[in-house]
Amino acid sequence: TATQPLLSTKGLGVRYGGVTANADIDIAVSGGEIVGLIGPNGAGKTTFVDAVTGFVKAEGEVVLDGHRVEKTSPHRRRNAGMARTWQAGELFADLTVAQNLAVAVQPIGLRALLLDVFTGSRPPAGVVEEALDLVGLGPVADRRPGELTLGQQKLVGVARALVGGTRMVLLDEPAAGLDTHESREFGQELRRIAATGVGILLIDHDMSLVLDVCDRLYVLDFGRVIASGSPHEIQEDPAVVAAYLGSA
Ligand code: ATP
Repeated sequence: TATQPLLSTKGLGVRYGGVTANADIDIAVSGGEIVGLIGPNGAGKTTFVDAVTGFVKAEGEVVLDGHRVEKTSPHRRRNAGMARTWQAGELFADLTVAQNLAVAVQPIGLRALLLDVFTGSRPPAGVVEEALDLVGLGPVADRRPGELTLGQQKLVGVARALVGGTRMVLLDEPAAGLDTHESREFGQELRRIAATGVGILLIDHDMSLVLDVCDRLYVLDFGRVIASGSPHEIQEDPAVVAAYLGSA
């Protein structure tokens, strides 16, 4: 059989009262692949990430590495190797880069954790360093976010999701605010991360980044997948152009 995807969904649906935010979504992401999820504002992209990672209630199946996880908590899904970033992925300005990652993995309450961080105790040996190396931020581990470029800050956000052996990462507008040059560098970094075998689902409004870096794309409109395929195929798809690219 073909290699099984790292992450797949089947019939995924989310309703907020009368609003159908996601409907009947089937997607698959393999290890090493960067898959884009695009669509107009309100199409349901963030809702999809919320549903897959367990932060909102959904119908349908979520399969991670061959295991059904749709009934499990966000915490368990994270321990199973799937993590996400948040649209407003602010960093702790007073913590170092390494400490910003450490807060993502300490298996204790946030207060105890922050105390720990401020008093210099460290998370399990190597996991923070490993994630920083993966995104090329090893050299700035002891700096504070304000001392980094915006591109580096965005990568800290990604590294925070990668900490602890994450194999599937869902990135919700991780490049927001980057200029063209920074965004291109950010994309190259995503390719390096994927090359290590990590599966990436990428949501972004920066079409040049998405078209440039993704192996495949899914297009959402009104909560449904209206098209999928290579960046080339998507750009030529009349339904996509009508719903989205034409007005972008
Ligand atoms: P954007 O690109 O603007 O971030 P999106 O594609 O991520 O949009 P979602 O944020 O997932 O879209 O929203 C999908 C739909 O669900 C929208 O109609 C939105 O108003 C609605 N929605 C999202 N979150 C909630 C909520 N907590 N309660 C009610 N409706 C919600």
